[in-house]
Amino acid sequence: MTAPTRRPDTLLIHADRDDAADTALAPAIHTSVTYAAGDAAEFAEMATRPRHPRFYTRYGNPTHERAARLIARLEGGEAALMTASGMGAVSAVLLGLLGAGDLAVAQTTHYMGTTRLFTELLPRFGVRVELVEQADTAALVAAIGRGARLVMVETPSNPTMTLTDLRAVAAAARAAGAISVADNTFASPLNQQPLSFGIDVVVHSATKYLGGHHDLIAGAVVAREDLLDRIWQSAIALGSTLGAFDAWLLLRGMRTLSLRVARANDNAITVARFLEGHPQVEAVHYPGLPGHPQHALARAQMRGFGGVLSVRLRGGYDRTQRFVSKLRLFTQAVSLGGVESLVVHAAAMVRGTLDDEQMQAAGIAPNLVRLACGIEAADDLLADLAQALERS
Ligand SMILES: *Cc1c(COP(=O)(O)O)cnc(C)c1O
Repeated sequence: MTAPTRRPDTLLIHADRDDAADTALAPAIHTSVTYAAGDAAEFAEMATRPRHPRFYTRYGNPTHERAARLIARLEGGEAALMTASGMGAVSAVLLGLLGAGDLAVAQTTHYMGTTRLFTELLPRFGVRVELVEQADTAALVAAIGRGARLVMVETPSNPTMTLTDLRAVAAAARAAGAISVADNTFASPLNQQPLSFGIDVVVHSATKYLGGHHDLIAGAVVAREDLLDRIWQSAIALGSTLGAFDAWLLLRGMRTLSLRVARANDNAITVARFLEGHPQVEAVHYPGLPGHPQHALARAQMRGFGGVLSVRLRGGYDRTQRFVSKLRLFTQAVSLGGVESLVVHAAAMVRGTLDDEQMQAAGIAPNLVRLACGIEAADDLLADLAQALERS
């Protein structure tokens, strides 16, 4: 049923089914926390096999397993592990694979929670951290070569849709004996498969495209079985357990992933082209535009360019505040990857926590707006943007 040649659209519908005796088309929600052993020998096996799906739900669960199998197949990986959130996935990976004295290389620009792990939490446990500008491939490769144990990348990254060269990072990590980790949340496995470039571990905030409806929080880690077992050890210690209902909701959401991602990709390139030509817009950051400084890399490692873009408007902070207030279809809310289009005025979000210099370093201009395209009709999205630009 799940031949390796099947396309992602088909895998999304079928790849989690493994039990021919189970005639239910829709997956079951396994709420049981604990599972019975047939005899003492089976109990011993259940208690000691990593990621056993029927022992104790923090260790594994049949509904988790179905979601995990689907995500692993989509990413082209051996296996996957579900976590309670994207940050649960990132924490389990970093705390599972790093120890005191190790050198970890990461980007200057990551999801904020990941940045906190690298700058605040990991150093408290003796991990040495080197942050490198992600577009500077030579600097990344050099940092990895200084004896890194692990390198973490995220591409495209927030908020300026900057890319990291996955193939170069994976090769440098391999040469240095380091483990490479990629956060593939923004691209989704439909647009980009980091494992195919030699990356060792993929993490997802399944809260975003995989879930797709802004109604669940979940995370996933995809890796080789041996690496995943080590990561699982830290996941069960951290207690980042996905709820069975959310695992089921995630499976439900993923059935339409390829339709949603295709529409979000189309909407984003349409919006990007429209805004690029608008006199009230100073700059558009979208890897799918030929003018993006890393467009060639985007074409080499992405099949679609994703639903997220950012723009700098003419005018400053106040004008940008007026613009986002006038939007009617783009809702002012954090997150991305759901069916609704969302907008965030980046500077408004970090004004309390970052000073001007830090904002500059993070590439957050006062007039920068992030647009996360949903699956509405493109014409309606363009009309909404046009009226808001006019009226602000
Ligand atoms: C949202 C997000 C996370 C964190 O995911 P949660 O599910 O909110 O914990 C991590 N990385 C990226 C790129 C994200 O967008």
